[in-house]
Amino acid sequence: MKLHTKIALGLFLGALIGGFCNRFFGDDQWLIWVSDNVAYPVGQVFLRLLFMTVVPIVFTSIVLGVAGIGDMKTLGRLGGRTFGYFLLSTLIAATIGLTLVNTIRPGAGLPADVVDELMERFSDQQAGLAAAGAQNFGISTFVNIVPRNPVAAAADMDMLALIFFSLIFGAALTMIPREKAQPVINVLDGIGEAVIAIINMAMSLAPYGVFGLIFVITSQFGWGILQQLSMYVVVVLVGLFLHASVGISALVKIFGRLNPMTFWKSVNPPIITAFSTSSSMATLPTSIATAESELDVQPKIAGFVLPLGATMNMNGTSLFEGVTVLFLAQVFGVELGFGQQVVVVILAVLTAIGAAGVPGGSLPLMMLVMATVGVPPEGIAIVLGVDRILDMARTTLNVCGDISASVYVDRIDREWEGLPAAVPIRSRPETA
Ligand code: ASP
Repeated sequence: MKLHTKIALGLFLGALIGGFCNRFFGDDQWLIWVSDNVAYPVGQVFLRLLFMTVVPIVFTSIVLGVAGIGDMKTLGRLGGRTFGYFLLSTLIAATIGLTLVNTIRPGAGLPADVVDELMERFSDQQAGLAAAGAQNFGISTFVNIVPRNPVAAAADMDMLALIFFSLIFGAALTMIPREKAQPVINVLDGIGEAVIAIINMAMSLAPYGVFGLIFVITSQFGWGILQQLSMYVVVVLVGLFLHASVGISALVKIFGRLNPMTFWKSVNPPIITAFSTSSSMATLPTSIATAESELDVQPKIAGFVLPLGATMNMNGTSLFEGVTVLFLAQVFGVELGFGQQVVVVILAVLTAIGAAGVPGGSLPLMMLVMATVGVPPEGIAIVLGVDRILDMARTTLNVCGDISASVYVDRIDREWEGLPAAVPIRSRPETA
């Protein structure tokens, strides 16, 4: 059996058995024990093995990517295209979300007692997020992109700062004499290969890890809340589906000049990883491997675009933020006019750039968007009970958006460099 079939099986069985246990033994002590002491550690060890590789893979792949691109002019042009694509796809996603939530208005009919109950139940969690948000955003967010100490940035998993240092370091390698730069490049190349070997080992544990991660969620999930918030959940999921099937597919076709079906068939492994980990960062190694091996993206481009994307390009998150802010505005009877909704879209795009690629990474920042347009930020408590499920879905789109960006930037680079056209595995005659 192929590894990804096994992982998908782990995901399916974990969800099924977890959901079954929740249904029949929901409050039993033994179930909580099994979830805390067996499923949770198995899932977390797998997740940590992936996280363990993130710092070295971001550093080596960006430095090698930038050094491989070579001159600053090309780097600037590719960087401009990359950011342009990120902005465009995130903007399309947020707009789809806002259009849906305005049409369906899921917040208008939510009963007041449900609102009170959820506000009360998730108030502690909400207070924690509020504290994190207050610390994390402001003008210093931008200043801190330039790290005082790159080692500390890496140690804190401060991704924007680490990326900034890696970009500068890669650029610097192109400015020093070739005979000095080459040994450094060779060493980083070796480190990169070794990290990939570690990832392959970690991925062989994925079927069990994924089982554990999903079991913990479904065995303890409050399915009742899902029912109470069903309209809101449906709007987010339909929005994500529309953005995938129409938005990203069109972008892949127009900008990446690739058949969307080929694209979607090729990205199964990152889809499963993103869905089960809810983390763009934890999925980064798989995204890089898939872009290179399945979609024929040059390693220097995958190494440059995908780490940036995992941190800054979050299509699913911006769609989710737009829907959630408007949903909560409807719940609280706050009317947001066209101008304010435009502000929501802009802020959803900006905060999606600033959000960390970890489970729930966008929540503290979304509270700031709410506060800015006059929706009570503590209202986020209402949706926290279903957030994990939505996080799984939005992270999947975040990652697919990143991979589509790498396809576009690769194709454009090939054109500029006069290289032969890319041939994704699924378009090759022997596999077609
Ligand atoms: N979990 C998301 C990601 O890693 C971020 C978020 O929307 O919370 O991409």
